[in-house]
Amino acid sequence: MNRSMHLHLQTRFSRRTVQKLALALPPTMLLATHGRTFAQKATPGALSADLQQFADDTYAFVNSGYISLFIVTDEGVIATDPGSQSGPERAEAYRAAIASVTDQPVRYLVYSHDHADHATGGDIFPDTATFISHRNAVEKLASRADPRTPVPDIAFNDQLTIELGGKTIELYYTGRNHSDNNIVLLYPERRLLFAVDFIPVNSLLFQNLPDAYPEEWVESLRWIEENLDFDVLVPGHPPLPGTKANVAGVREYLEDLMGAVRAAQDQGLADNSPEMIEAVRAELEPAYGSWGMFAEWLPLNIEGLLRIWAETEGAAGATPAP
Ligand SMILES: [Zn+2]
Repeated sequence: MNRSMHLHLQTRFSRRTVQKLALALPPTMLLATHGRTFAQKATPGALSADLQQFADDTYAFVNSGYISLFIVTDEGVIATDPGSQSGPERAEAYRAAIASVTDQPVRYLVYSHDHADHATGGDIFPDTATFISHRNAVEKLASRADPRTPVPDIAFNDQLTIELGGKTIELYYTGRNHSDNNIVLLYPERRLLFAVDFIPVNSLLFQNLPDAYPEEWVESLRWIEENLDFDVLVPGHPPLPGTKANVAGVREYLEDLMGAVRAAQDQGLADNSPEMIEAVRAELEPAYGSWGMFAEWLPLNIEGLLRIWAETEGAAGATPAP
């Protein structure tokens, strides 16, 4: 990964910054980020059963197999992924869960990445929230033209700092991994990181690695290990929480998976054959056999890796010689 991607200039989240970032987007992707009304008020009721609290201001909404982190301030809520693709129910429960702990409106909605299962449903916050994503997610979200998935108001490349109600939240892009636009949310004061789909906690990577970049994924994880300071890891799916050690764990899994598949190929085992799967399984089982979905998804992880390698080699082969 090109280290120049990680300038990480501290960006004050001022109006000037908003304009600067917004102007860098294609005009069709601009939405007003000012003049919003903040009329929506909710009365705190019974604490939602779907909440896990990590600090007096930091909660995970855990519902339908998806996790959405949110942080409460005296000037509004910083929320993440609506995670409500199959209908409005989860987003509505999310809004109710937030309202069960604060009457503050959602001021920022951070998309962890563009995948529809996490990104859909934010339309229930449109009057109060400014939507934020990585730059690479904007066109993908916009092209979906889904009224339930508001297009980001603000996009960034490397790093963005949100300051709200005296609290500071840092968003980082760590390179391509599970998608080309995953970002992580770091809450330094709470030593907590929210990272979706690319650092599962003691669980295998999802199925056949759709949309993934395995080699860059390793570098993305290594960058987090070396640069971000936290104790608690909140992932996008249960189980939760994890710790920083899970970052190295997933990196080592990816490295070991790639190494074992290459070794199986070097032994002459046919791609995706039972013999290859058994050889890789035997190699990884001692370290990772206890992880969730190990037996079920290892063959799919192998299939996905081989597919991605074939696509990459195909693309390289299609490049005309100079
Ligand atoms: Zn995803």
